Amino acid sequence: MVLSELGNKISSALAVMNNTTIVNEETINQLLKEIGNALSLADVQMSLIIQMRKNIMAKIKLDQLAAGLNKRKLIKRVVYEELIKLVDPGVPAWKPTKGKPNVIMFVGLQGAGKTTSVTKLAYFYKRKGWSTALICADTFRAGAFIQLQQNATKAKIPFYGSEDEKDPVAVAKKGVDIFKKEGAEIIIVDTSGRHKQDAELFAEMKQVEQAVKPDNVIFVMDSSIGQAAYDQATAFKSSVGVGSVIITKMDGHSKGGGALSAVAATKCPIIFIGTGEHIPDLDLFNAEGFISKLLGMGDMPAMMQMIKDVVPEDPKAIDDIVNGKFTLRNMKQHFQQILKLGPIDKFVQNLPGLSNLPQLSGNEGNLKLKAYINIMDSLSDKELDGKKPITRPRMLVIAQGSGRHPREVIELLEQFKMFEKTFKQKGIQNIANNMAKGGA
Ligand code: GDP
Repeated sequence: MVLSELGNKISSALAVMNNTTIVNEETINQLLKEIGNALSLADVQMSLIIQMRKNIMAKIKLDQLAAGLNKRKLIKRVVYEELIKLVDPGVPAWKPTKGKPNVIMFVGLQGAGKTTSVTKLAYFYKRKGWSTALICADTFRAGAFIQLQQNATKAKIPFYGSEDEKDPVAVAKKGVDIFKKEGAEIIIVDTSGRHKQDAELFAEMKQVEQAVKPDNVIFVMDSSIGQAAYDQATAFKSSVGVGSVIITKMDGHSKGGGALSAVAATKCPIIFIGTGEHIPDLDLFNAEGFISKLLGMGDMPAMMQMIKDVVPEDPKAIDDIVNGKFTLRNMKQHFQQILKLGPIDKFVQNLPGLSNLPQLSGNEGNLKLKAYINIMDSLSDKELDGKKPITRPRMLVIAQGSGRHPREVIELLEQFKMFEKTFKQKGIQNIANNMAKGGA
């Protein structure tokens, strides 16, 4: 079962419980049975599901609950907390230090998505203002050099590799030395994989590890392997000092729940998930945000992070959001910045209630944003700052002035209302406050 279906199943099981007249042992058993079945279909290990049920039962002792307590709310909260635990390894992830070289080595089986993910990670840091570099030490797979060179060129990231040198240790060492001298802050080494875990692969990984002395080793794993993730992550962790994990191919039809929970059970911190074949398709992994999004509640920490990423040069815009103020001008700025980043579907996916808007996804979404920006160009300062309402006759004038259909003007204003409502929710302000203080 794909993750969206898992989320729907759990949400509907919770909704059924919410609508029952009496909440008793039987209701809870039924709820846990349905959640357990859904998790099992998403490939989550049975032992983890059993443990989760036990934890939930232990936290909800119906006979000991005070009269008048909102049992439904309590049950929902406990289920939510336990779902988070399922994908949270409870171990802090390594973080690079600014102003010094941070060497990161990637390991994983062939086809897991290593070469794609090294560029994604370098690009992630580059966008945040770090100087990054890529090294291809995969001398095993024909084509690895060209693939990484092309990706690096596309992302405008310095690259080192050699088509002639067959010793991965020599290439890795030389590349790291060069980029350290050049003052790169994030130096990522892509190593070779094999079709299966074997002694040769682990021996090579260890040699490269000894040569480049990485600050962090990232293990890349394909989400579609499901429950086998536990054994694979354990094997890599015990061979080289794996510090973090990236789980790829979480888009599409993989049963990602199995991989996420299995890896978390090995106490390997999951730092990112790969969500597509393109360079920006890498999402920071946050257990709470992930479960929130799974249950259709949106991923507010991710959304706020994206806003921070897209409006770094305009701290006032962040302040406005923190203070619960959201105007058409803010929306225009956001749209302009989002357009610079490419497809907007990621941004929209993280908004509660907006994730299903068909008109705002992929390239079509980008065209729509451009149309909206055109319309907003025709607004007066007072209208942009929310100091003057936009009347129906004015909408027609704006449509004419921007060369758009009046329907689109109405659509934009409706869209704005939805954004405004979302941004004004107290919860979002709290999250934004946390982020402003350096949290979340
Ligand atoms: P490597 O052998 O581990 O270096 O794997 P590659 O980086 O060459 O990736 C293998 C295939 O998986 C390629 O076709 C990639 O485009 C694809 N891939 C990697 N990450 C993702 C992802 O997050 N989502 C999707 N859909 N495909 C991915």
